[in-house]
Amino acid sequence: MTDIKKNVEITLKEIKQETSDVYSFIFNKPENFNWKPGQHGVFKFTDREIKEGKDFRIFSFASINEEDIILFSTRIVDEPSEFKKNLLELKSGDVMTVDGPMGKFTIKDYSKPSLVMAGGIGVTPIRALVKDIHHNGVKTKDIKVLYSDDRGEFAYTDTLKNARDNSEGLDLVFISDRNEFTDKIDAYAKENQNNSLYYISGTPGMTSFFKEKLTGFGVDQENIITDSFMGYE
Ligand SMILES: Cc1cc2nc3c(=O)[nH]c(=O)nc-3n(C[C@H](O)[C@H](O)[C@H](O)COP(=O)(O)OP(=O)(O)OC[C@H]3O[C@@H](n4cnc5c(N)ncnc54)[C@H](O)[C@@H]3O)c2cc1C
Repeated sequence: MTDIKKNVEITLKEIKQETSDVYSFIFNKPENFNWKPGQHGVFKFTDREIKEGKDFRIFSFASINEEDIILFSTRIVDEPSEFKKNLLELKSGDVMTVDGPMGKFTIKDYSKPSLVMAGGIGVTPIRALVKDIHHNGVKTKDIKVLYSDDRGEFAYTDTLKNARDNSEGLDLVFISDRNEFTDKIDAYAKENQNNSLYYISGTPGMTSFFKEKLTGFGVDQENIITDSFMGYE
């Protein structure tokens, strides 16, 4: 088990807009702070007081250790929480803290075929999984990623396409139609059943919807691994 470190200071390098409402926050990576693709951290401000709601947020690490940055991305709607309003006001050089790494949403067995389902902002840990496979030349057996966004706005497109086009055993499809997403999952599950592992990342509603669907096709619970972004509806 990796140790969980607390209150690790990280300094903002830049904020990058990925889509109309998804922003990436890029920090320096402290030398002794490492995580596995799929894990997350708990982030706090150091010099901003949050009066409404919790003063921390959980975000997945979207980068890998080898990139030497901590990258998280989040959806910031027109009327965001006070926490997210403050995130957008951060300037390069500002300091936040992170507790982590945490979470078990990691690839269990690279030698097994896998279907990875990412809905909207649920793509954040998937960027790290895909980047790891590409950058570190991880040997995989048929990992298929379905990345769906109803509005057809996709984050990290260059990184994801580059990884897909240059990694054996990795396929990645961008989908902007919910029915197509569901149909592709159904077809895959019918064909592969328990010969595959299933990873679902997205809002709680999405993860439980697909988990139920998969079990309905006879997929065992132990073959379904979920990352549920609690806090989104
Ligand atoms: C393991 C884990 C990993 C996570 N990883 C990430 C991650 O990588 N990136 C990430 O963004 N979040 C992630 N989350 C969720 C994150 O922690 C927050 O809970 C989430 O971003 C919501 O943030 P907020 O409370 O600041 O609300 P905001 O997103 O600012 O929303 C403000 C309010 O508006 C509502 N709202 C938001 N969108 C809509 C909409 N379209 N229509 C109507 N109402 C809406 C919200 O319910 C809320 O009440 C993760 C959660 C977990 C548990």
